Amino acid sequence: MIIRDGTATYLRDADNGYRAGYVYGRTDNASVQQAERMIAALEGADEALLFGSGMAAATSVLLALDKPTHIVASQVMYYGFREWLSGIGRYGHSVTFVDTSDLDAVRAAVRPGETGLFWIETPSNPLWTITDIAAVSDIAHAAGAILCVDSTVATPIFTRPLALGADIVMHSATKYLNGHSDVVAGALATVGHNPLWERIAKIRSKFGSALSPFDSWLLMRGMRTLDVRVRTQAQTAATLAEKLVGHPALAEVLYPGLATHVGHDVALRQMKGGFGGMLSIRIRNGAKAAVAVAACVELWNRATSLGGIESLIEHRSSIEGEGSPCPCDLLRLSCGLEDADELYYDLTRALSVAS
Ligand SMILES: *Cc1c(COP(=O)(O)O)cnc(C)c1O
Repeated sequence: MIIRDGTATYLRDADNGYRAGYVYGRTDNASVQQAERMIAALEGADEALLFGSGMAAATSVLLALDKPTHIVASQVMYYGFREWLSGIGRYGHSVTFVDTSDLDAVRAAVRPGETGLFWIETPSNPLWTITDIAAVSDIAHAAGAILCVDSTVATPIFTRPLALGADIVMHSATKYLNGHSDVVAGALATVGHNPLWERIAKIRSKFGSALSPFDSWLLMRGMRTLDVRVRTQAQTAATLAEKLVGHPALAEVLYPGLATHVGHDVALRQMKGGFGGMLSIRIRNGAKAAVAVAACVELWNRATSLGGIESLIEHRSSIEGEGSPCPCDLLRLSCGLEDADELYYDLTRALSVAS
């Protein structure tokens, strides 16, 4: 049998070279690179790297630090990464979690000479807290540190963190970039050249944490409709947020597109064309009532994750567990592509049945 150039290995040329540039599947693959070029183009980046999950992408940044480093990170962020970061001491680093929407708190958290990395998520899970990327980038660079932004929820359609001063942008590509809830993937993208990036790329090839070629192909299929999907999802989220404000069963509606949201002015400045497809509601009667509301929906799906074409509802504190800043009366809503009026009807029916 003759090896066909493909996923796991590639033929050497007769002169022992690798003219096509591909050697072995863990490090080189044309489908993966094609998907990476799409992400780099979307983010205005020079380079992008795809990983087997968002967590593999995020943790690779930390694993690439070359000396004991103090990290300043958003207090409200994807709980899985916050939990992992909390244990970063085992790698010789330290972390301070702050409300990164409060720039004075960010400045106060800096330890001169020690702080080497800022990690922010905006809008951040599940309160949709907005952090001013340009302002934090100034603080980070004045401290000689690198700024990494988890832009999963904003998507490159609404926010371009690299253009606002971030050094690295991260995505759980499982979410909006893929959009079809059938791939788990992560991405990092960067501009210019920095030694941290080189080490991240090396870690990916040595750890074997790159995305598979088939998943890269699925991801490319998903990214072709990114623009139309997320604009529709953001429109639905905005419509629902506006209609839900003042509902008697709700204590609060959290959506950065609402003028009453604390981060609205910054969101207006850094999010172009939409505020994303995620919102949260807080149920006036508390945690039990929130779980009961989620039990009564028919069109929304009770499931974790976000960014897919199917609308999801989730009682977040059940999954985030102890130590989470998520209120126990909160339901997180990921708007899909179903009709906004039907989603509203289904949710308000559940609210009246359960309360
Ligand atoms: C899901 C998610 C992650 C983790 O990504 P995985 O692909 O699940 O590993 C990180 N950040 C945000 C904002 C997420 O929503």
